[in-house]
Amino acid sequence: NTVPDISLNDGNTIPQLGFGVYQIEPKDTAEAVGRALEIGYRHIDTAQMYGNEAGVGEAVRASGLDRGEVFVTSKLNNGFHRPEEARRAFESTLSALKTDYVDLFLIHWPLPTRYDGDFVSTWKTLEEFQRDGRARSIGVSNFQVPHLERLAAEADVVPAVNQIEVHPYLTNEQVRAYGSKHNILTEAWSPIAQGRVLDDPTIVDVAEQVGRTPAQVVLRWHVQRGDIVFPKSTTPKRIEENFQIFDFTLDDTAMERISGLDKGEAGRTGPNPDEFD
Ligand code: NAD
Repeated sequence: NTVPDISLNDGNTIPQLGFGVYQIEPKDTAEAVGRALEIGYRHIDTAQMYGNEAGVGEAVRASGLDRGEVFVTSKLNNGFHRPEEARRAFESTLSALKTDYVDLFLIHWPLPTRYDGDFVSTWKTLEEFQRDGRARSIGVSNFQVPHLERLAAEADVVPAVNQIEVHPYLTNEQVRAYGSKHNILTEAWSPIAQGRVLDDPTIVDVAEQVGRTPAQVVLRWHVQRGDIVFPKSTTPKRIEENFQIFDFTLDDTAMERISGLDKGEAGRTGPNPDEFD
């Protein structure tokens, strides 16, 4: 039951399963992340907007693990897309984490009209962070195909990842297909749709067939599709359960049944990136 490392387009590697900390209270974050690290997670997904980077850094230091053993992702706060502001925001991420680098730094949302929608100059600022070694890898989040095409036309570095909403009710195939064609890994956020897919009759049925829980079956479906996932929980039993997904497989029929639950746009739980500003 070991977590595979996946290669990014810049030569670095990322553990395919991580731990997400969105909506974990700052005061509870160090404890939850500490528990995840004890269980064996080596990849934590946070963001300046979550307000809990300090707790993530605290847990990594308290774990006794070397900094190099834990893959830490953070994301640029919305509203800080201008290069000067992005540089300041990135510095405050590093100081909250109390670390001198992050493994992966992302533009959190493309923000189509704010700052004239100029996420290209923001991206070039992330390229600086990668050149100076403070971000080992850089990527984007919530980018749609036209956003990715614009970066391909106007910037030098291809994003290592695109972190987007993906789960059985929103399989997001077009954006994923662009990623696989251009060597951009897909990270699936809200992989269990914040719990909404877990009582779906098809998921429950597949779970009974393989003798696993609905959450394990859905997470397993993601990793067999090749995506990166980082489910969130503050319940120790669930943090452990979500980690046990590399000792069973789903056959093609089960995979297809789960993919068949896609509701397209109606399945979205979060905002549409083309509108969210
Ligand atoms: P998720 O799909 O991971 O669901 C988390 C919720 O599901 C928990 O709060 C809990 O209620 C329930 N749950 C978790 N494990 C369970 C289990 N084993 N059994 C039953 N219920 C269980 O939702 P999420 O937190 O929104 O997404 C995961 C991570 O993705 C976030 O923590 C964050 O790191 C990232 N994310 C990124 C963006 C973005 O814009 N880039 C947006 C949302 C989330």
